Amino acid sequence: MVKETQYYDILGVKPSATPDEIKKAYRKLALKYHPDKNPNEGEKFKLISQAYEVLSDPKKRDIYDQGGEQAIKEGGLGSPNFSSPMDIFDMFFGGGGRMARERRGKNVVHQLSVTLEDLYNGVTKKLALQKNIICDKCEGIGGKKGSVEKCPVCKGRGVQVHVQQIGPGMVQQIQTMCIECKGQGERISPQDRCEGCGGAKVVLEKKVIEVHVERGMKDGQKILFHGEGDQEPELEPGDVIIVLDQKDHSVFQRRGHDLIMKMKVQLSEALCGFQKTVTTLDGRVLVITSKPGEVIKHGDLKCVRHEGMPVYKAPLERGSLVVQFLVVFPEQLWLPLDKLPQLEALLPPRQPVAVTEDMEQAELQEFSPSDQSWRQHREPYEEDEEGPRGGVQCQTA
Ligand SMILES: [Zn+2]
Ligand SMILES: [Zn+2]
Repeated sequence: MVKETQYYDILGVKPSATPDEIKKAYRKLALKYHPDKNPNEGEKFKLISQAYEVLSDPKKRDIYDQGGEQAIKEGGLGSPNFSSPMDIFDMFFGGGGRMARERRGKNVVHQLSVTLEDLYNGVTKKLALQKNIICDKCEGIGGKKGSVEKCPVCKGRGVQVHVQQIGPGMVQQIQTMCIECKGQGERISPQDRCEGCGGAKVVLEKKVIEVHVERGMKDGQKILFHGEGDQEPELEPGDVIIVLDQKDHSVFQRRGHDLIMKMKVQLSEALCGFQKTVTTLDGRVLVITSKPGEVIKHGDLKCVRHEGMPVYKAPLERGSLVVQFLVVFPEQLWLPLDKLPQLEALLPPRQPVAVTEDMEQAELQEFSPSDQSWRQHREPYEEDEEGPRGGVQCQTA
């Protein structure tokens, strides 16, 4: 049992979630609430990031599970502070952290929805992106040559410093981004601004990129387009990072290189043999035949070798197709009494039971938990359970 579930709730996973499930949940939410896509959801983006930072670290997750958010904030690990949501995001999606961000234009991360068939067969998808490119009218200057001047408000520093009195004899210095030049440290008078970009130095351009999804790639895999991200004057352009997001498949589940499917067989098929067909992800039809005389149990696992997912970068190798059998019993089955001995002769012998005169005969009836008569009997019994709490006192005494 965990103390609190808030962080799990933020990511929409159960407290029993695997590290992979936590990663996947973060991936989806972080892309959805990233300030680039959802500028008004900054607080939500921060919460997602904090929840992920704790739950993705086994030590911190352990502390959280035992002591809740309080334990994390008290800093059982030395540092009670969370990393910046952007750093977490960049680390996860391969942006290279703050240093890289300052020397290079912004990375652009996009999610690309793919089917399991796409990952099995490979596919090329076109993706239309918008990105900033250097304005070619002014070559990234923002206006006529020589029209750029130091911002008079911040004197070229890009920040403004305010001094605030916070108590008797105590002042605090607060730095904020310069509003006049938006942190650029320079400005261009309106009449000199470039007509192409209005002084912004960059313009928005639509670009279609072709994404080659290779056979065997997996959910969450990243495909990098180096230098295709936003351009900014005097900076190296950032990257475009495409993150694959696999849709659930109605038949197959992927586990590593293996494909797993459930197959229903009737009781008669489980006992007497069966033949079934499976349509593969590349549209072939496989015929599966049970071994003569073999009985399939409910939950049995069998596999077809080399019918799983292709291995990335080695597509001739493939995993297995794993079939889990679900034996379906007939709804209401009464067998003819005179035929029963024949059936019984084919099955393993029964377990003998010794019944003596002093035992009581009891009648078996149908039962369902929603049954009204059962509930009525149950309620007084539950009230009775208030009584034995005295046992707790025994422990503390
Ligand atoms: Zn300024
Ligand atoms: Zn321009």
